[in-house]
Amino acid sequence: MRIPLIAGNWKMNKSVTEARSFIEAVQGKLPAADVVETAIAAPALFLQTMLDANRDQVLRVAAETCYYEDEGAYTGETSPKALHEMGIPYTIVGHSERRRYFNETDDVINRKVLAVLRNGMTPIVCCDETMGRRESGEKIHWVVNQVSAALKGVSLEDAAKIVVAYEPSWAIGSGTSASSDQAEEGCYLIRQTLADIYSDEVANGVRVLYGGSVKPDNIAGLMKRDNVDGVLAGGSSLDEHSFIQLANYQN
Ligand code: PEP
Repeated sequence: MRIPLIAGNWKMNKSVTEARSFIEAVQGKLPAADVVETAIAAPALFLQTMLDANRDQVLRVAAETCYYEDEGAYTGETSPKALHEMGIPYTIVGHSERRRYFNETDDVINRKVLAVLRNGMTPIVCCDETMGRRESGEKIHWVVNQVSAALKGVSLEDAAKIVVAYEPSWAIGSGTSASSDQAEEGCYLIRQTLADIYSDEVANGVRVLYGGSVKPDNIAGLMKRDNVDGVLAGGSSLDEHSFIQLANYQN
């Protein structure tokens, strides 16, 4: 059984003080992690404060990105080795904003996936899709290529541990989510790709999330779909009440 994963991505928002009060506010209000797992990916400079405030340890405190080398002369970068040492279980890799604004290529994303796995963490591998590609019918090819490129050299054993997020960039930050049919179609395509590269067993074990304008009032419809195992929410994860509602979508 795939345990649902409700993950937030704060991007470059909040201060350290705001991050601490969010964590304090969600204590005791999230579902047990073996029923619905919850995570918030935050800027690296907040992570220790969030871990310290996370007394009940139900929420997973996650990173938004990291570098692909463990250490060295890479000014300003975040070490995956140090993240693991802090106790960070998940790192987002390949978000469309990293691809667009920081020129992360498929090769860079692949190296980051390998680095996260090598350091004992789970990558949440994002796979985007632009409206142009959807309309031109290139969608399938594009999504399959991104998943295959990100997982190059990842063993079957490691592939079974990853999380993949289908994040159409036309839905991110737009206020309008993909329909549940579109989300299901994208997540199914990713699962099929994993089955083709690895095996049905791996594909059936991996959690595939949908991301793009998920809100408390549309999450239930998305989560009903067979291949949508969770969500990656940006804007609606910033407010603690809204995140608590997302996490408790089953109630
Ligand atoms: C995201 O950035 O991953 C995202 C899904 O953002 P939003 O929920 O705000 O569309």
